[in-house]
Amino acid sequence: MSAITNTELLQRRYNVMGKSSPLFYEKPLHLVRGEGVWLYDNDGRKYLDVYNNVPHVGHCNPRVVEALYKQASTLNIHTRYLHDNIVEYIERLTTTFDDGLSMAMLTCTGSEANELALRMARFYTGNQGIIVTDFAYHGNTEAVAELGTGFMPEAKHTKRVKSFSIPDSYRGISGVAESDLADAYAAQVQQAIDEFEAEGINVAGMLVCPDFANEGLLTVPKGFLEKAVAMVRKAGGVMIADEVQAGFGRSGAHFWAHQWYDLTPDIVTMGKPMGNGHPLAGVIARADMIEAFSKEAMYFNTFGGTPVSCAVGMAVLDALQEDRLMENAVSTGAYVTAGLRKLQDKYPLIGDVRDLGMFFGVELVTDRATKVPAIIESRRIINLMRERGVLISTIGVTDSILKLRPPMPFQPEHADLLIATLDDVLEIVSREMAG
Ligand code: PMP
Repeated sequence: MSAITNTELLQRRYNVMGKSSPLFYEKPLHLVRGEGVWLYDNDGRKYLDVYNNVPHVGHCNPRVVEALYKQASTLNIHTRYLHDNIVEYIERLTTTFDDGLSMAMLTCTGSEANELALRMARFYTGNQGIIVTDFAYHGNTEAVAELGTGFMPEAKHTKRVKSFSIPDSYRGISGVAESDLADAYAAQVQQAIDEFEAEGINVAGMLVCPDFANEGLLTVPKGFLEKAVAMVRKAGGVMIADEVQAGFGRSGAHFWAHQWYDLTPDIVTMGKPMGNGHPLAGVIARADMIEAFSKEAMYFNTFGGTPVSCAVGMAVLDALQEDRLMENAVSTGAYVTAGLRKLQDKYPLIGDVRDLGMFFGVELVTDRATKVPAIIESRRIINLMRERGVLISTIGVTDSILKLRPPMPFQPEHADLLIATLDDVLEIVSREMAG
């Protein structure tokens, strides 16, 4: 039991941090310990974590903790010396990619990785224009924040950035038949290219998250991404896949979410789950791009790929492999989806259930026919779930899609608890809506 109350700690936090650093839930959680898929608060209460992808192989995974401790008690140093770990780690990491994506540069955050990817794409192509979705989040540095107007109220696209509508099969485009959606969204990408060219700007690349996670884990119209990438390449740009959320086996059958498509990106960025909580991120790209960039440009990142970071990264890869966590994402993932679909049959509030391995989006609507987003209800649901000891959150343009993305060791017994609790909460909220 912590001596300080949560109200006092919250006030002290506001005093020294202000209110711009966001906290989850109406009653913020004060966590003190984690283990596997479980989190514990300062009163010793246990929560099932169905939200966090950073502790990818489980909170405080013993293999990762041991690797960190061992390397930290031997040597940790910045990256301007020879060390086995960084070479060995990148050699292992690149085996998970298609041939051609064979070189890497390491960073500490996904934002830095995307920033570096932008620099590399602009340097390599000699062009400036970047195309993104109109509800993107790719990080917090100034160049990257420029891409993410959906999330940051103060961010603005400069003339170097254009966007297209999120490619959403569930909501679609008014007046466009489902079979034509891929072409309609791709036409918007072409329009961005044409508008750039009319303004004297050529396209350096398109940067998208291949599972469109922040956009709401969309079901992408089949063929859209392949068509859009071909258009961008024809115009002289490259494809950057932001795998910061989507990668490292989260999507189950494939190690990387872009591998679900019939395409190979030119650059891939990664982060979040890469160090299981330790700040490790990076860029993998075509060897010719990294070689050209390294010949004339300089990138040095003090902490990107230290001996400790790489020891941790390797332990994450070991845990994924030895604990068969991708297989688990396929089987337990399908089990969770089946449970969510049963709830969809029972509650009209659930408009759509989407899944990709161990990642689920549950889109809530107040009316299935008109698909009015259930914004207030979504907020109520995540807070009621938190009170009952199950942690989830929301995503999407109106924050009305439940975001379920547990650590990868999530098991069917955890899924049973999730579904039973969500069932209770949906019952309450549906009753409130009726009354
Ligand atoms: N890309 C995506 C898709 C993300 O979701 C995020 C973080 N939410 C980032 C990049 C930025 O990563 P970081 O917070 O490590 O800078």
